[in-house]
Amino acid sequence: MSEDLENRAASLDARDRLAGRRELFALDDGVVYLDGNSLGALPRHVPDRMADVISREWGELRIRSWDESGWWTAPERIGARIAPLVGAAPGQVIVGDSTSVNVFKALVGAVRLADGDRDEIIVDATTFPTDGYIAESAARLTGKRLVAALPGDLPDALGPRTAAALVNHVDYRTGRLHDLPGITAAVHAAGALAVWDLCHSAGALPVDLDAHGVDLAVGCTYKYLNGGPGAPAFLYVAERHLPGFDSPLPGWNSHADPFAMTPGYAAAEGAARGRVGTPDILSMLALEAALDVWDGVPVEVVRAKSLALTDFFLECVRTYVPEGRVTSVTPEAHGERGSQVSLCCADAHAVMKELIARGVVGDLRRPDVLRFGFTPLYVSFADAERAARVLADVLSGRTG
Ligand SMILES: *Cc1c(COP(=O)(O)O)cnc(C)c1O
Repeated sequence: MSEDLENRAASLDARDRLAGRRELFALDDGVVYLDGNSLGALPRHVPDRMADVISREWGELRIRSWDESGWWTAPERIGARIAPLVGAAPGQVIVGDSTSVNVFKALVGAVRLADGDRDEIIVDATTFPTDGYIAESAARLTGKRLVAALPGDLPDALGPRTAAALVNHVDYRTGRLHDLPGITAAVHAAGALAVWDLCHSAGALPVDLDAHGVDLAVGCTYKYLNGGPGAPAFLYVAERHLPGFDSPLPGWNSHADPFAMTPGYAAAEGAARGRVGTPDILSMLALEAALDVWDGVPVEVVRAKSLALTDFFLECVRTYVPEGRVTSVTPEAHGERGSQVSLCCADAHAVMKELIARGVVGDLRRPDVLRFGFTPLYVSFADAERAARVLADVLSGRTG
């Protein structure tokens, strides 16, 4: 039975349009890397680009690089490269700061755009913790009441008091994909603004921000976008909101004329309004280089492979792993699944430790979730089969 699945994996890999992308990444054949949803792998060409940035742009050109090497305009330029990956027309995406900081900018910005009589902010009750912590502080700062609601219950929680709702597109723990078009429409029907966190969807599936009328969004670049540890996040502000977007962190980089150094603040036009202070150029330029791996890759193709990979992995798990040993908490329905598979088992900590020792790298979400992220640009069907086989060995106490 293992031979059947190995043969299937080989033929799926042979037909995979994205198979050639894997060699663009620094990966070793001994390891199945299923943690690209936490830290994407390194594209091979990035070290050479960084050596040039450090030695020539910084080392030789020094201050001239802000202009001559395009450092000053990097946040807008890199934002423009991320925009098509999330379905945004040019001029609405800016790169800089962490996701946490951008959640703050987006949520306070949304509340300031909303009708002032509205006194509630809704937050996804299953959110990645940082969004919840920041939402609580944003609510306190803006004098609003924070209401937690499960994304599925959002339509009931929304009402005339809602100013904005902050929702995760894909649940980081279970891999559940939430209904962005439907929830955004419900938020709008209530007269409120929809703020989406795309950390686990940007680079994994089509988001179509413009098409669905999303108001503001934030996302990570070190997960499926492979920007490197701590790579700067992105902020999307829909064009119709840009003129009214009032950033709670109006640093000098977001000024209409930063080098006039005037005491009074005047916000820049466009997405630059989302900037704060001097950008972290080394991380920015590593991200910019890393985005080359997307050239000529439609997100739809990535999504199709992602679903095929997670379907195949689940099938291998069902075939290899003794019945009842693990339970998948990731939805079976394609429309409800992100690009990861989460399996629950009581001894998850020990199991993940052993998996990593045997070259299958996923991660643990305490107490009992084994998380396996599938990055279609570099994970193969053979990887999925091997991961399930090693998992079955570990769960059955077989030695590797
Ligand atoms: C990974 C992740 C973050 C990370 O925030 P940082 O500020 O980069 O640490 C935030 N939100 C979600 C939903 C995430 O998955």
